[in-house]
Amino acid sequence: MTSAKQKIIESLLVQKELYGDELFRKTILTEPDLNVGKDFPNKVEKKISPSLKKIESLSVSNSSFGTDSTEKLTQYYKEICECLECPLGKTRNKFVFGVGDPNAKVMLVGEGPGADEDEQGIPFVGRAGQLLTKILEAISFKREEVYIANIVKCRPPGNRTPNPVEIETCIPYLHKQIEIIQPKLILCLGTTAAVSLLKRKESLGAMRNKVHQVGEIKVVVTYHPAALLRNPNWKKDCWADVQFFRKLYDEM
Ligand code: SF4
Repeated sequence: MTSAKQKIIESLLVQKELYGDELFRKTILTEPDLNVGKDFPNKVEKKISPSLKKIESLSVSNSSFGTDSTEKLTQYYKEICECLECPLGKTRNKFVFGVGDPNAKVMLVGEGPGADEDEQGIPFVGRAGQLLTKILEAISFKREEVYIANIVKCRPPGNRTPNPVEIETCIPYLHKQIEIIQPKLILCLGTTAAVSLLKRKESLGAMRNKVHQVGEIKVVVTYHPAALLRNPNWKKDCWADVQFFRKLYDEM
C-alpha cells in the first residue's frame, strides 16, 4: 500500500473515531425514543427527534468534514489520545475526546466520562447523554450541530468527581479544543464543569441565571443531566436555564 493511501485510511479511521461512530449510532442503531426525558417539561417530549431529523442531521455534521477546524481537531486528537499524564489514564478503557461539529457555535462541557462513555469513547452516550440530547432538541438544537466535551477525558473510577490535580492536568486539552472550535456560547453542565472552566468557587445555584465570560465566549451554567435523573425536581430550573441559553444564542 502506498503511503498516500495509508494516510487517507488512517485519516478516515480517526474521523470515524471522532465523528463517524456517533452518526452511525444515531442514524442506524439507536431506537428513536427513550423514556429518560418523560418528566422533563412537555416541550421536550414534543420535540423528540423523528427519524427524518436524524437523516437531516447527517448533512449538518458532514458539512464540517474537511474544514480547517476539523483537520486541526483531528490532528489534536491524534496528539493527545494516548495521554497518560494523570492517574486516570491508567484505569480508563477509552479516551473520550469530544464529539460534534468542529465548527459549532455552541459547546457543551460536562465533568468527565462515565461507564458507557468509557466503553464507547464518546461523551454523553449513557442515560444522562440521552436526556441531554432531548434537552438540546427541546431548544431546537440537533446534537450534531453542537460540540460536546468534558473537563477530563478519562473516566474517574467509580464515577467519582475528578480531583483538582486531574482537572488541572487535563483542562488544557479542553482549552485547546475551545481555541480550535471557537464557539460563541458554552453551556456548562454541573458544578465541576462550571467551577473548573470559570475558575470560580461558587455553588451551582450562585452561578446559574448569569452570563459568565471566558475570553470572548459567553458561558451559561446549568445542572448536569445525571443530576436531573437523580433529582427530577431540578428539571424545571434546567428548563429555565436552557431557554435562557437559547435566547442568548438567538440574539447573537
Ligand atoms: S484524564 Fe486527561 S490528563 Fe488524565 S490521562 Fe486522561 S487525558 Fe491525560
